[in-house]
Amino acid sequence: MRGDEVLENRLLERWWAVLPRHPLQQNDLHEADAELLPLPGDVGWLAVTTDTLAEEIALGFVADAETAGWLAAMQSLSDLAAVGAVPLGIVVAVTLPDGGETLQPALARGLAAACREAGTFVLGGDTNRGPALAITTTAVGLVDPARALRRVGCRPGDAVYATGRLGGGAVGAAAAAARAGALPELGGPGEPVPPFRPCARMAEGRMLAGLASACMDTSDSLVATLDQLARLNRVGFAVTARLDDIVEPGALALCRRLGMTPLVALAQLHGELELVFTVPPDRVPELERGAAARGFAPLRLGNVTAEEALVIDGRTVDGAAVRNLAHAAGGDLKAYVAGLVALVG
Ligand SMILES: [Mg+2]
Repeated sequence: MRGDEVLENRLLERWWAVLPRHPLQQNDLHEADAELLPLPGDVGWLAVTTDTLAEEIALGFVADAETAGWLAAMQSLSDLAAVGAVPLGIVVAVTLPDGGETLQPALARGLAAACREAGTFVLGGDTNRGPALAITTTAVGLVDPARALRRVGCRPGDAVYATGRLGGGAVGAAAAAARAGALPELGGPGEPVPPFRPCARMAEGRMLAGLASACMDTSDSLVATLDQLARLNRVGFAVTARLDDIVEPGALALCRRLGMTPLVALAQLHGELELVFTVPPDRVPELERGAAARGFAPLRLGNVTAEEALVIDGRTVDGAAVRNLAHAAGGDLKAYVAGLVALVG
């Protein structure tokens, strides 16, 4: 499994064909959810990451402006969680469409609520005008150099876990697909879809720092996460847990109603913000003790395998094909859903 089979990886690599890399940067391209850089003195490494919420808004996955503010903040904070960092704060750049001032209070409430939940603050930002709503958040934090988590380092035989149930983003994505005529109507007329407001796993990330052999968040779904980890580490993954035990209940019910396997919820592009992480077998007792002490129950997914393949619920999944679908379909949800069902449905 080569990294360049994935169109998104090729897109990112084209930047680095031109941009020089900082000589002290502690992660190579793709190797961590946040960029890691030593700071002077002994305060630790700077962890910094940026993310834009625009495609999800344009596709109709985000229920309302307050949820958009929440998601924008949480998705960058989640990348800090995935390297085990403690947040210092976020800066926010918002592009407001014409008349977008009416959205501003709700966006601000969502940003504030997410920061409160994660124990951090908005430090500042920038407000622009443009054709469509877009929110870019940059999160900065500090991490102990000896304990920083990266996407690389797992080995065959390591146990694979998630911090919580997966696939919850599928519900909002399916509602948008139904509005676009790509899926049958899911509820009664006007039946609202509850807003999807996942929490970044800040405390869990800090607990896993120094313990997990690799870690990445599931912002692009479980399949994309495992596929990327497999390519970076030249390993495979066998997810042997029952899908009923690892898929978020709302997404499970949705897949049943649509007559689809829950694997669709784990493969579609609107991910959640859980952490997927690996632990060497001899450190599993330490994980179990640490998690129990903090009241957190890691969800065992399966194992890292030597064979470079992604096997979920007994099926071999073509991770590159699943990930490339979103690029191939552009914003066409009908083409996307048809392609996804053909691959994993
Ligand atoms: Mg990430």
